[in-house]
Amino acid sequence: MQIPMCSPDLTGQEQQKVLEVLNSRHLSIGPHIREFEAEFAAYVGVRHAAGVSSGTAALHMAMIAAEVHEGDFVITTPFSFVASANAVLYERGVPIFVDVDPLTGNIDPTLVLDAVSALAAGGDDARRWLPPSLGNGRPPHPSRLKVLLPVHCFGQPASMTTLVETAARYGLTLVEDACEAIGAAYCGRRVGTFGDAATFAFYPNKQMTTGEGGILVTNRSDWDALVRSLRNQGRDVFDVWLKHTRLGYNYRLDELSAALGRVQLQRLDELLARRERVASWYTERLVAQRPLIEPPQLVPETTRMSWFVYVVRLGAEIDRAALLRDLETRGVPTRPYFSPIHLQPFYRERFGYTPGDFPVTEDLGNRCLALPFSGVMTEEQVQYVTTQLAAAAERHRSPVAA
Ligand SMILES: *Cc1c(COP(=O)(O)O)cnc(C)c1O
Repeated sequence: MQIPMCSPDLTGQEQQKVLEVLNSRHLSIGPHIREFEAEFAAYVGVRHAAGVSSGTAALHMAMIAAEVHEGDFVITTPFSFVASANAVLYERGVPIFVDVDPLTGNIDPTLVLDAVSALAAGGDDARRWLPPSLGNGRPPHPSRLKVLLPVHCFGQPASMTTLVETAARYGLTLVEDACEAIGAAYCGRRVGTFGDAATFAFYPNKQMTTGEGGILVTNRSDWDALVRSLRNQGRDVFDVWLKHTRLGYNYRLDELSAALGRVQLQRLDELLARRERVASWYTERLVAQRPLIEPPQLVPETTRMSWFVYVVRLGAEIDRAALLRDLETRGVPTRPYFSPIHLQPFYRERFGYTPGDFPVTEDLGNRCLALPFSGVMTEEQVQYVTTQLAAAAERHRSPVAA
């Protein structure tokens, strides 16, 4: 049996809509993006949504809207997909990494408060939160600290109560990277509604897809207007076609993608329910394999999980690399997930990070493994994966470390 790592959930409805757009000859800046944005904003429960070409583009524009300039600090997590921290670098800001909660992989809100209070005070104590290559200069000025950028890891919301309080108390902008968490709820409230803005992504492995695509949501009309200008080459809404008010980008979402997104959004609750069912098939079968293999854990504040990936933790005695290769030969692809951002080659080079800087993130980075996952997986496929995983875990278990 060969199991796909992930797969979009598409039907004849999506096919038909995309074909309609193609036949209309109206492929960009048309009715579908407008409708998609209105429908998406209503789904999340915010005033504005601006469709863009990727989740990364949405994050980039959020950093521009938050007025992140050269040398400004954005507090974020090293246990994420690289795009969340890269968005800070696009504006020459400095990501200030804060380690994560070992249970959820989400940024640790107590450590965030420590970092924020130290950086807001601006003395010598602030320096230990800076990247190693910047920690030996003069203490940073408190005004450098601008933004909190939590990521809802694997579809489970970050600890928003404390993060919202911290942002309010210190006057920081709060941006949610909700690219993995569409439809998730924290204490009964949808992600995307907690901060100044939130970003979502529609790459084909996400819960819903537009091919490539993303969206920025916000309740702030000034941000919405700015983002609409930025994605469209810096034209203001009232600008004539060749007048460009500011430096902009081509971050537009095309009509084919928007039409696809509208059908997926209509089906979203079904898509999420199907993923949840697959996750529960996994968890049912994996509880017996604890503690060698730990299924993902949800905290009580997660009143709705939005399953993006299904990531297990392997016991320290398992040789993950050997297990992964072994499973691959049996038709079961798996991925180490995430690979910590601070240890990526160019982050090491630029900021001087070394192993040991964020121990919880690195431990998760060493032990986490994403299993094949999508809403279209069958129970037989899940059964095959878990059987192969159990057998391979026994084969690659070291008696020494145990
Ligand atoms: C997928 C993802 C993104 C970016 O999405 P793209 O559409 O691929 O640019 C950003 N942040 C996180 C945490 C993601 O998982």
